[in-house]
Amino acid sequence: MQFPIHHSEAKSILSSTSGFIAQAGFTHSLTPARNCTFGCTYCYVPTMGVYGGLKREDWTRWGQMTTFKTNAAALLGKSLKPHQIIYCSPLVDPYQPAEETEEMMPAVLDAAIASPPRVFAIQTRAPLVLRDLDRLRTLSSLTTLRVGFSITTNDERVRRLYEPHCAPFESRLDAVRRLREAGISVVATLAPVLPCDPEALVRAAIDATGCDLIGDPFHVRATKSSGATTRDAGFRISRKNGYEHWHDPVFQASLTLRMQETARAAGRRFTIGPEAFATLAQPLRT
Ligand code: SF4
Repeated sequence: MQFPIHHSEAKSILSSTSGFIAQAGFTHSLTPARNCTFGCTYCYVPTMGVYGGLKREDWTRWGQMTTFKTNAAALLGKSLKPHQIIYCSPLVDPYQPAEETEEMMPAVLDAAIASPPRVFAIQTRAPLVLRDLDRLRTLSSLTTLRVGFSITTNDERVRRLYEPHCAPFESRLDAVRRLREAGISVVATLAPVLPCDPEALVRAAIDATGCDLIGDPFHVRATKSSGATTRDAGFRISRKNGYEHWHDPVFQASLTLRMQETARAAGRRFTIGPEAFATLAQPLRT
């Protein structure tokens, strides 16, 4: 995959949270780059416009380039405080494809290791996170480290339609297992739930993580009148492939119930919305 990678200096690196992430209990968000080269067709981020420090070129050319904040780790080192509950990141996957060559996250993790916040949560869908396993282990010995691992469908045809640059289902399950074996607290985030076999997806995610699941159907304007929502490119794929009903609130409610019942049968919970993401924000130590 080829894409332009730009660099810039940020003025600050930790942002006070608002909205969904604040409701989940996070005090700060950390975004090491602008624009995400996974370029998922449904990605909510570019629908927020300039919110969150994005520039016009980011939301008009979502996924076609990225801009790394070269001083992210240095700024983080000066900004970290022990009470902070940090979500990395609401605006990009910190292990997006460009991270493979940029290697921003090792320095970010080193800063967190030197001055651990109360909680450091990483949200990713990339097995590349395993590259930093030693640092993740060290950080998790010092504070609460959580990895939220996005697993959106168990149907590879669907995955290629909606998120062709992301890792296949089995690779993600394997990455989750390896994080867990290394003693890292890892939670599967089934968000958004793409067309799939929902019962099989829930069972596979519980089997890999051994814990409760976080989820969310596609965001739609019918139930969320403002803020981030599903990108048009995702809707177009759904329409073209007969998956429109996955955006229908009535279907989504029944889908959520099915997934909750399957999780319950396995002795686990499947929750949605800020209540669900609050799992990632909770400290392991008091
Ligand atoms: S990985 Fe996340 S932030 Fe990146 S394009 Fe996909 S949904 Fe958006």
